[in-house]
Amino acid sequence: MSHSAQPTASLYIDGRPVEGQGAALPVHYPYTGEVIATLHEATGAQVAAATAAAAKAQPAWAALRPVERGRILMRAAMLIRERGEELARLETLDTGKPIQETRVADWPSGADALEYFAGLAATITGQTIPLGGDFVYTIREALGVCAGIGAWNYPSQIACWKAAPALVMGNAMVFKPSEETPLGALKLAEIFTEAGLPAGIFNVVQGRGAVGAALVTDPRVAKVSLTGSVSTGQKVYAAAAEGMRHVTMELGGKSPLIVFDDASLEDAIGAAMLANFYSSGQICSNGTRVFVQDGILPRFLERLAERLAGVKIGDPLDDDTQHGPIVSPAQLAKIRAAIERGQAEGARLVCGGVGEGAFVPPTVFADAGDDMFIAREEIFGPVMTVLRFATEEEAVTRANATPYGLAAGVFTRDLARGHRVAAALEAGTTWINAYNLTPVEAPFGGSKLSGVGRENSAAAIEHYSQLKSVYVGMGGVDAPY
Ligand code: NAD
Repeated sequence: MSHSAQPTASLYIDGRPVEGQGAALPVHYPYTGEVIATLHEATGAQVAAATAAAAKAQPAWAALRPVERGRILMRAAMLIRERGEELARLETLDTGKPIQETRVADWPSGADALEYFAGLAATITGQTIPLGGDFVYTIREALGVCAGIGAWNYPSQIACWKAAPALVMGNAMVFKPSEETPLGALKLAEIFTEAGLPAGIFNVVQGRGAVGAALVTDPRVAKVSLTGSVSTGQKVYAAAAEGMRHVTMELGGKSPLIVFDDASLEDAIGAAMLANFYSSGQICSNGTRVFVQDGILPRFLERLAERLAGVKIGDPLDDDTQHGPIVSPAQLAKIRAAIERGQAEGARLVCGGVGEGAFVPPTVFADAGDDMFIAREEIFGPVMTVLRFATEEEAVTRANATPYGLAAGVFTRDLARGHRVAAALEAGTTWINAYNLTPVEAPFGGSKLSGVGRENSAAAIEHYSQLKSVYVGMGGVDAPY
């Protein structure tokens, strides 16, 4: 079957496909390396055209009843669910992730966000603050034009997670997907139009970092939401500050997963595998530092290696494949260099290794030290580092000794310890006897260098709106003049 995925045009501006006039952007299927589409970047003028279209359309959109905005998002979610198979295939071609993942995780979680915020839309109200006669009421109003910038690991989920709260609050959005995975956002734009979204409310521009930078500093942009690496986040946050723009920064991490002796071993191993190898390890919240208590460490490593030996690696479009290729040659090189460095620094390779072709197999290091590169730096690939610990206090101190704070997990059967450790871990999300579950109902985001702001849940609404206070004078004006 042909893998061609050429879209009608590269960009989506003011309700229609528009060809980019900038540099060519070939899109590769990571499994075969073949070019499945050739897109073109947006020029500066096209970025400006997109933000202008958004700014023009936004006031009428914000003036609709929230329930009407919600209805359109709900329709878009229905279309996504109806086209689940076609969209999963496109996501697999764009990212290389196994179709058994993209069927259940990517677009479906995007649809969840559209449904959740569609339902929430009509419930968002202000406050009345009595002042004994006079009073104040508050209005939660849209910010205006929001810029969304995505990473390549969950391109369609990221586009939906940003668009859903932005749009229900009456904002318009200009979204720039990652240059590695530009196809899903274009599909979302088409689906929105089909669902009845007015032209100009959701626009897509394509390009590398410079196009993102042009978008962030566009004078019409009031808010920037980025999903990406910490170093990009630092640049984008600084650039946004110049215009005092609101920001949400969903950045990287080096999250800890602490497994105590009393944990259910099979559950802890299953979670550690999900926390390191789902999406070939290309997940921001991955628990890549697995702290295992002395007593179960040998058994943990033995069973982990046994279970990993059964993982099916291969063609991502095969129903049975559980582990796909890495997104790009550049990312492959980065992961391989990290694995070589782990070996050079003296960690013991339990299984896996640098792999071949576009694949890096599930890789586990043991006997590692906290100061090794593999235990400190985000690799963003299928590389787990197992670290031995003795006491709870030691595990928590070492788990927190990182500049990142995206996520963390603890496995134990001791209820009090589970809650105590979850509270002590410095992270935006902590899991007890679970890992990497990010339902739309719960806030998600980072602390420390892993980001600011929260996506999902009602908390996201605050990051796509601002409060206006209206003071109402009920008596005369008591002026001293
Ligand atoms: P990246 O930082 O290289 O790129 C992210 C996006 O920013 C891309 O669209 C890129 O074109 C754009 N960009 C780059 N420079 C820019 C600039 N100066 N101005 C504006 N935009 C710019 O990240 P990536 O390699 O695509 O993704 C992997 C990273 O994303 C990892 O660090 C991962 O942890 C993180 N991530 C975080 C989350 C989260 O929710 N916290 C989710 C997924 C990925």
